[in-house]
Amino acid sequence: MTDLVPACDPPRIPVRGGGTFPVRRIYCVGRNFADHAREMGAQAPASPEARGRPVFFGKPADALVLDGQVPYPPATSELHHEVELTVAIGRDAASGVLEPDRALDLVLGYGIGLDLTRRDLQAQAKAAGLPWDIAKGFDHSAPVSELLPAAGLDLRQSTLSLEVNGNLRQSARLDQMIWSVADILHELSKLYRLRAGDLVLMGTPAGVAALAPGDRCHARLDDLLSLDCVILPALT
Ligand code: MN
Repeated sequence: MTDLVPACDPPRIPVRGGGTFPVRRIYCVGRNFADHAREMGAQAPASPEARGRPVFFGKPADALVLDGQVPYPPATSELHHEVELTVAIGRDAASGVLEPDRALDLVLGYGIGLDLTRRDLQAQAKAAGLPWDIAKGFDHSAPVSELLPAAGLDLRQSTLSLEVNGNLRQSARLDQMIWSVADILHELSKLYRLRAGDLVLMGTPAGVAALAPGDRCHARLDDLLSLDCVILPALT
């Protein structure tokens, strides 16, 4: 049978050292740094035992931005940056729950990304008890860097940061995450079967704030990775 519309080609993230990572799904983690949970008016867990369940949401794969060019999105006047670690899944998980001590075996590489958010629409959705989709999963809402191969890499002591127009807005060490990468893959596997091509955005530290057309974002993970993007005027 002939396709009646053009088939969508998956976005492909470059991997340092060669090759690309075609993206199947994007999973996102909410409230994974206590200081950000508090700045959003949510409670941070008092202890690791009290952390409950992580907050998950998604973005469509075609929300990825690979060239750093983000048109200011429609229907918002409060576009916020959230700098996050990205985790690229390189192998299909077996069916069933993935044990935390085996979870990192699935990881192909790590990168950094921005979980761009229409904060005004998210606040309205929260107040009305409605889903977050229109606040999170819009076009151009996920600029990402290249991926670093995971082999031999331990990022727990690494610092994730974001500057906007040269001013530091967000900075945190990755060991401050409430849920580690292994914890998150374990929790996701209770809900979904993880597959090669899945990308996970791990949640943001405090300091989220508004972006305007013309703003330049520069995100870094130590001296290992960087991501530059610019907010362009809204498309007309
Ligand atoms: Mn986020």
